[in-house]
Amino acid sequence: MPNMKQEKGKGPKIGFFTQIIIAIVIFAALSGAYSLIAKLTSKTTEVTISQVVQMVNAGEVKTIIVSGNTLDIVATDGTEKVSKKETEAGITETLKNYGVTPEALAKTSIDIKSESGIGYWLLNILPIALPMLFMLFFVWFLFSQSRGGGMGGKSPFSFGQSKARVTNPEDEGKKVTFASVAGNEEAKQELIEVVDFLKNPQKYLDIGAKIPKGVLLTGNPGTGKTLLARAVAGEAGVPFFHLSGSEFVEMFVGVGASRVRDLFEQAKAASPSIIFIDEIDAVGRSRGVGTGGGNDEREQTLNQILVEMDGFEPTEKVVVMAATNRADVLDVALLRPGRFDRRVFLSLPDRKDRELILKIHANEKPLEADVDLLVIAERTPGFSGADLESLMNEAAILAARQDRKTVAQSDVLASIEKVMMGPERKSHLHTKKDREIVAYHEAGHAILSSALEHADPVHKITIIPRGDAGGYTMSLPLEESKLISKKEYLDDLAMMLGGRAAEKLIFGDITGGASGDIQSATKTVRSMVAQWGMSESLGPVAYNDKDHSMVKEYSDETAKKIDDEVASIIKEALNRAEETLAKYKDALEAVAKKLLEVETLEQAEYNALIKPFGLIGKVKEV
Ligand code: ADP
Ligand code: MG
Ligand code: ZN
Repeated sequence: MPNMKQEKGKGPKIGFFTQIIIAIVIFAALSGAYSLIAKLTSKTTEVTISQVVQMVNAGEVKTIIVSGNTLDIVATDGTEKVSKKETEAGITETLKNYGVTPEALAKTSIDIKSESGIGYWLLNILPIALPMLFMLFFVWFLFSQSRGGGMGGKSPFSFGQSKARVTNPEDEGKKVTFASVAGNEEAKQELIEVVDFLKNPQKYLDIGAKIPKGVLLTGNPGTGKTLLARAVAGEAGVPFFHLSGSEFVEMFVGVGASRVRDLFEQAKAASPSIIFIDEIDAVGRSRGVGTGGGNDEREQTLNQILVEMDGFEPTEKVVVMAATNRADVLDVALLRPGRFDRRVFLSLPDRKDRELILKIHANEKPLEADVDLLVIAERTPGFSGADLESLMNEAAILAARQDRKTVAQSDVLASIEKVMMGPERKSHLHTKKDREIVAYHEAGHAILSSALEHADPVHKITIIPRGDAGGYTMSLPLEESKLISKKEYLDDLAMMLGGRAAEKLIFGDITGGASGDIQSATKTVRSMVAQWGMSESLGPVAYNDKDHSMVKEYSDETAKKIDDEVASIIKEALNRAEETLAKYKDALEAVAKKLLEVETLEQAEYNALIKPFGLIGKVKEV
């Protein structure tokens, strides 16, 4: 199956740029102030004391202002000069020593300023102190960044403050409830418990019940994870703190961690409440995997999330929800008990659910009488809820562009292609042929599980992609746990290979879609042969242990024997699968065709479908 993984880009780091601009403005202001003062103090030219004497004798000096050892000389023509005198001697004495005549001195006014004047000190100290202050400020600024505002929790300009958007229950305009989310009944069912806890926390606390702290919503992009999280808050009527994983990650180290701290503090203060961390894979990727080497920032943020969740008291009444398209890359630490131990899976909608979603998004759009949403649902396999929303929107735009007041069926049909070609959809685009192959492949698994005596019964079949898989058939054992016999393993094996067998039987060709099946089949057979001693030719000898490492030294010859035995068992299983499917080919066709039509079959529907072909669906007896 095509790779259906997809990632979203990070949002713009607006906050960070604002803060840089603030820093630049402060820098500019400080250096402006400094140069102004520097200019004030250096506007006048400096002269030697003997030049001053000459000027005094020539009667060119009007006033000498003495502050400390500095002489400010104002000449009769208005120009100003500065000079210095010796420290010990007074000004008159100095001038006399240099040979100024008493007459000349009498014509010059001498003004002695107090040295302790504030202006004097400022003038002398500022030129040195300002740059130093600025340096100190800068060092502190950088330092507190790298500490993540560890000093008292807040860094300058509230770098570390949570940027969570809060939706309060009073915001009626933004209120989302379960009614806004079509389909996904199983997911809603699981979340009702969370809603009830948030509504009546005391009921649960009184009886000593432990309530899930963390709920992880997983599923393909656009399946309504964010929407459903909002709906939980809307149903419970509690504040909803919403933050996206990529928003945690900022350029400066440690900001993410302090943001997490802040977010949890806010939420606790507003409890009962919900914290929602969207796209948590941006911070919660398993450590040491992915984005080239260690990323301290992500790791610190992730650790802080774990610390906060572990530190929760049951009385805190805060439920943490998170969403991801990529549950497969999440760090296992996030999934441990007491953290995100509840998993809720949202699947892409099947035909029935697509119709319901279309109905929701057609609600505010005036439709022409000819619009048939069921037909649209049939034509949009593989579309997510978000795709369907944008489909209805495109249709409305098309109608408006042609100055029509209502949306026609032709508008919607014409928009399907546009949405399909959109950048978001390319990755999970299903061609018609692919869908057919997936339908027969899954039907193949299902028919074998019904036809073989010891295989587990089918619970659900779907051709809706889930993660990497194009579709899946869920079969569950009748009993929870028991010793599994060799016959059961062999039937299971044939069932695992049923997808490949069906492709071969119907299309005369095979695809890579069975790679997962073949992997697990191989693993099972290897264990049967080398670990559980189930091979006739090799006998009850353990060659390998659980993790396929050697427990017994064996020769290359034995290794080859093991390999041959594994291959031969798998080939035999594939043959059995092919023979059985050939026998029930009509049933296979019927199931595949039904799947192409409705996309998902539950156990009862499936059992009814295969009955006319002489296959009895196994059902758990109660
Ligand atoms: P995700 O978070 O899983 O990527 P979103 O919750 O952001 O998906 O979904 C995007 C939009 O698609 C929603 O705002 C909603 O309008 C629409 N949508 C998705 N799933 C559904 C659904 N099951 N019912 C109604 N609308 C849906
Ligand atoms: Mg989302
Ligand atoms: Zn398969």
